[in-house]
Amino acid sequence: MAGRETDRQTVMQLLNDRLVLERVKLDALFPVALGVRPAAVLMIPADLPDGQDLGRLVDQRFSQRYYVGTDPAVPWPASLGRRLRDAGLRAITSPVAFKMRILSEVFQDELSGFDSYLALFRWARRLGLDTYEMDVRPTIRELYFYQDPAVLPRLQALASRRREIRRHHGVIRQNGVNTFTPFPEDFMQDFVSMAGTVLGYPRCCVEAAASERASNVAPLEIRSARQIAALRAAGQEPDPYAFFVAGFVPCHPRCEAAAAVGHQLEASLAGLDPRLGDLYTRGLAKNLEQVSRFPELIREQEERMRERLEAGLAQIAGDDQAG
Ligand SMILES: [Zn+2]
Repeated sequence: MAGRETDRQTVMQLLNDRLVLERVKLDALFPVALGVRPAAVLMIPADLPDGQDLGRLVDQRFSQRYYVGTDPAVPWPASLGRRLRDAGLRAITSPVAFKMRILSEVFQDELSGFDSYLALFRWARRLGLDTYEMDVRPTIRELYFYQDPAVLPRLQALASRRREIRRHHGVIRQNGVNTFTPFPEDFMQDFVSMAGTVLGYPRCCVEAAASERASNVAPLEIRSARQIAALRAAGQEPDPYAFFVAGFVPCHPRCEAAAAVGHQLEASLAGLDPRLGDLYTRGLAKNLEQVSRFPELIREQEERMRERLEAGLAQIAGDDQAG
């Protein structure tokens, strides 16, 4: 960012841009541009303000193309060629591979014209950042921002390690039972450690996360929520600065190394503009709240799923009686 006036203008314009979520600006774009974090990652489409709309569009187009064989987004006569090609593909690939292929094509096509996704690349360029994308699932993508060219080979190594893990492990052992997982890399010590390090997480927190994930215990948030509850029961409070970006879980709710990153981020953002510092500080309380309420949120989600299931079963029973 060159020149103080351009800086001010850029900061204000990004701050006011509704195509980018506030936490993406504060946790990812500004910190990487300021050099406080080596890299930051977003999940696409979850980290887009209108990610759910994208999901719906992809679902609709996928269903049309997969079940009916037509694609409303492709005009005739190109649609005819597409139909023939799809029919050929369907004949020579497995049903799962065919489905994944269609899904990822539709996703890629929708994404390449999606405003809030394109806005991220415009901002990256304007802030002098580079981007790197990794496909995680046919309709989920990771988007990394970084500034130092030395980060690129580390991201490439991460991507190639993920591909390698996926080739060899689709199934993990959970509570003594073999369970299929679409994200086996999340349970591999070296992968979790590489990913955490490139994102600028403190070593103690990375090591704790990597060994816990490898031994396949509960999600990190559950462990952290328990630590927070134990602290509070002992009359102590967690340090919100240790929860320095959304999605990060410190090894301990009062981890000093993690809190130091939080203070550094706050000071750098406030140095750019006091408003950024204030917004960031408010975000810390949200991050902490999110982790401490995690078990509750999971329970609520399970409750809703059970209610839906029971309502469905009641409906079936009712239909049976009526019939
Ligand atoms: Zn730590």
